[in-house]
Amino acid sequence: MNRTLTALVALSLAMPAAAAPPPPPTLEQRADQALAADDNAFRFVEGLTTEVGPRQAGTEAEARGRAWAVQWLKDKGFANVVDEPFMMNTWVPGDVARARVTAPFAQDLVVLPLGNSAATPPAGIEGEVVFFRTVDDLRAAPEGSLAGKIAYISHQMRPAQDGSHYGFAGPARWVGPGLAASKGAVGVVIKSVGTDHHRNPHTGGTSFPAGVAAIPAGALSLPDAENLERMFARAAGRPIMLKLEMNPRQIGQTQSGNVVGEIRGRNPMLPPVLIACHIDSWWNAPGAFDDGAGCGIIAAAALNVVETGQPLRTIRVLMAGAEETGLWGSAAYSKAHIDEPIAAGLESDFGADRIWRFDSNFSETNPMLHKKIAAAVARFGVSVGSDAATGGADLNIVRDQKGALIDLQQDGTRYFDLHHTPDDTLDKIDIAQLRQNVAVWTQVVGILANESQSILTGGPIPSAPAIMQRQ
Ligand code: ZN
Ligand code: ZN
Repeated sequence: MNRTLTALVALSLAMPAAAAPPPPPTLEQRADQALAADDNAFRFVEGLTTEVGPRQAGTEAEARGRAWAVQWLKDKGFANVVDEPFMMNTWVPGDVARARVTAPFAQDLVVLPLGNSAATPPAGIEGEVVFFRTVDDLRAAPEGSLAGKIAYISHQMRPAQDGSHYGFAGPARWVGPGLAASKGAVGVVIKSVGTDHHRNPHTGGTSFPAGVAAIPAGALSLPDAENLERMFARAAGRPIMLKLEMNPRQIGQTQSGNVVGEIRGRNPMLPPVLIACHIDSWWNAPGAFDDGAGCGIIAAAALNVVETGQPLRTIRVLMAGAEETGLWGSAAYSKAHIDEPIAAGLESDFGADRIWRFDSNFSETNPMLHKKIAAAVARFGVSVGSDAATGGADLNIVRDQKGALIDLQQDGTRYFDLHHTPDDTLDKIDIAQLRQNVAVWTQVVGILANESQSILTGGPIPSAPAIMQRQ
């Protein structure tokens, strides 16, 4: 042996550890690293909003978004990446949306159609506006009393950390147009369900009950809605006349899809943990908050968990299509996979601001695990709620299976400033808060994916038939 070789052998014998890979980080260490420096969630939403932009459900724009997400997941090493197709009834907004008060204080108002709105004739419709302060007031209006008229529904949404005013103000959009149509209205405009004062209407879905034909339905920006209300105060009994022109339309059945990818677990026999978001957005918004950020958060968390070692259970990422226009993807996913038990489901779909509360639906059936998760996320400033988690919109399959659900509640104080408006753009994302989301998700998904017992009960894993019986 020459002298150099002898020296090398001596060196390698002296430092055997130098050749061994470093041990993987613990889950806690990896979550802490995410808090300090996660890049994947931001890169996802930055890429999606830059390379794709708005992604209206069922259109070619959404298809480009799904293809983009498929490629991203493959590039990051996810397994079994697919875009599972489904058919849906597709509504498109058209390119005309005008509202004009013609008397007594003639001026234009900024309006956008609501999802499922009908079109006006090309020349528009004109009618007297009937003011309703609340949906209940509209409900109380006599049958036929709105014949030939345009209903206006006001309400005042307020910002709240838990976003709870959406439940108060949302019905103006969800059911108000259908109620107005059922009482004979030829059109309806609502004050946007939102909390900002930009001249940006907040769109969103509405629906019309069976047997009630859709009518033109639009959202006014908040400043324009308030202007209209001031006109009522000054009209001194004169009718306020509104002209509405919109050309949205239903284009029949088109294809959408659910993008799915997996981190494979060590035991493929155990039901997977399902983490969800939705990939579509409204046509008027790049959807950075709703829900590009959510997709970035869940995917980043899955990648972090695998860095701590291959998890026991498979982690399945579901980036659902066509959430906005009626939870088409959620329904299609449940229908296609109802026979495959899910261990637990959780979704990120409330923006990109910090998580402040943890809820589950197993605090009584599996208190040990509930408390373990609560303790693990406390260091990120997350408190424990007392509500039973109900899961996000795209988790129909878990609700249908009566499975375990977790809600990681995000701060919604400014969510409804941006929701379904052109202001939902990348610059609104606060990277420090986005990273806090990824840290909390990493911690929670890592715990769930390494749980050997039933997440719902803490007992042995039920067989698939037993899960089906619970329905
Ligand atoms: Zn959403
Ligand atoms: Zn939305």
